[in-house]
Amino acid sequence: MNATVHVLYATVHEPEPDTLDEPEIDVVRELETAFVSGLARGSQYWRLKALCARDAQADDWFAPPRLAGHRRALAVCGSCPVRSECLDDAVACRTTEGIRGGLTGEEIALLLTHRKDDRRFDQIKLVLQGELVPLTSPEKRATVRITQLVGIGWEVWAPAMGIGYKAAAKRRREADKQLTTIPKRDLVEEIALADELRAELHQEFTTVTLAAAA
Ligand code: SF4
Repeated sequence: MNATVHVLYATVHEPEPDTLDEPEIDVVRELETAFVSGLARGSQYWRLKALCARDAQADDWFAPPRLAGHRRALAVCGSCPVRSECLDDAVACRTTEGIRGGLTGEEIALLLTHRKDDRRFDQIKLVLQGELVPLTSPEKRATVRITQLVGIGWEVWAPAMGIGYKAAAKRRREADKQLTTIPKRDLVEEIALADELRAELHQEFTTVTLAAAA
C-alpha cells in the first residue's frame, strides 16, 4: 500500500489490521490520531453553534455598513459563542466578504495585508519554536494565548521565556484576564498566527508519516 492510499484509507475507512503489516498499521494509527486531533482542534463542528446560521435575517451579515442590519449582525456576533473559531476560520480562508467573527470584510482584508510584516509576531514565533528571544510583557501574554490556541504545552514555551512552572501558570492567568481588554485587531492577529503554526505543525507531521510509509 503506498502513502497516498494510506492517507485515503485512514481518513475514509475503518482500519482492517489483518490486511496490513506492522509498519503500515503504525502509520494508519498515527494518521487516525492526527485526524481525530484535527477534529478536536480545528474541526468545523463549531459551525453548529453559530448564531448567524439560525438567524432568520442572514442577509444582514452582508448588508452595507449604513444599514441597520449591518449593526444588528455585528451585535449578534458580539454574543456568539464561537466568535473566536469563526475569526480563526475567516483569516485562514482569507474571507473578506461580509461580516465574520465580529469583523467586517474590510477589517479582515486589512489584517491579512499587514500581519506578515509584524515584527512582534515574528518574535513570538521564534519563542514558540523554542528559541530564547527577549519579549515585552504584552508579547509574552500574546505568546501564552497563542500556545493555548495551538495546543503547545508550557514545558515548551516557558523555558524559551526563561521561566519556571509557577511563573508560567501566573502568565497564563494574566493572559486569560487580558482577553477581555485586548484590542480586537490584536486578537485576530494572534488567531491568524496560531493558525499558521497549526498548519506548519500539520505539515511536519504529514512529512514524517508519509516518509515512514514510503
Ligand atoms: S461570530 Fe461568526 S459564527 Fe458567530 S454569528 Fe458572527 S459570523 Fe456567525
